[in-house]
Amino acid sequence: MNCRWTLRAAKGRWMVNISQQCSHGSIGLFVPPSPPLDPEKIRELQRFITLSKRLLVMTGAGISTESGIPDYRSEKVGLYARTDRKPIQHGDFLRSAPVRQRYWARNFVGWPRFSSLQPNPAHWALSNWERLGKLYWLVTQNVDALHTKAGSQRLTELHGCMHRVLCLNCGEQIPRGVLQERFEALNPTWSAEAHGLAPDGDVFLTEEQVRSFRVPSCRCGGPLKPDVVFFGDTVNPDKVDFVHRRVKEADSLLVVGSSLQVYSGYRFILTAREKKLPIAILNIGPTRSDDLACLKLDSRCGELLPLIDPC
Ligand SMILES: [Zn+2]
Repeated sequence: MNCRWTLRAAKGRWMVNISQQCSHGSIGLFVPPSPPLDPEKIRELQRFITLSKRLLVMTGAGISTESGIPDYRSEKVGLYARTDRKPIQHGDFLRSAPVRQRYWARNFVGWPRFSSLQPNPAHWALSNWERLGKLYWLVTQNVDALHTKAGSQRLTELHGCMHRVLCLNCGEQIPRGVLQERFEALNPTWSAEAHGLAPDGDVFLTEEQVRSFRVPSCRCGGPLKPDVVFFGDTVNPDKVDFVHRRVKEADSLLVVGSSLQVYSGYRFILTAREKKLPIAILNIGPTRSDDLACLKLDSRCGELLPLIDPC
């Protein structure tokens, strides 16, 4: 990984200097290689979509790689393959102030880039399907807000969204952008160079950089946490029930960009199977449910979905 960017304070304003030391664009960096589009497979997906009257779509990190966000598990290009870093654990975040300090310092550095990333043609296609009445409900495992940026409204963010922050004591929510301003006010001379970006906006910093970073509390004094489900935490049961109901009301399920390794998403596949719904999977590389799908496509989401006519 040769791409890096630096962030520094200049005359009271924070600047991000993106220094691309590589020859590829961000698509080439994080999207696994895939075979050329197969016209017969495109026709099969078109038939699947045409026959669907109440289509539920579930998306994962693979839909956002073309927007410049790496996934966790893809061979060679996923976060686990490129680094030895693991996502933050829920219990560690709750227990340890130093862990929270490290988390927020990294998140602060990654935020300008993470928050500026834009939907790609796959997000726009699904938003268009909703507008035309084809998409019954959209469930995403992503926390990057790219579906919302593309205009999707019939949407459940299963694992929350990095664009919101909540207080662990009083529950008050604030926009993540507001917290960024508080960070800047508390750390006027702090500077750090970031290396790499994770699916949740995390970046990598040294311990020395982290130790001098000041983290604000809520007005009530409570610690702040992004409104996302960290690894080791569980999805709100009401939200899970809500999605189970949407799956039971649907007549077909399309998975886009997920290996379905995490149970919080996989359980809805099991519900769809119980209901005998036809399942199609669009994901580069194998998934946990390939044997349950009537159609499996190893293609780039942003290349394939815009080719499908939702009418
Ligand atoms: Zn509070």
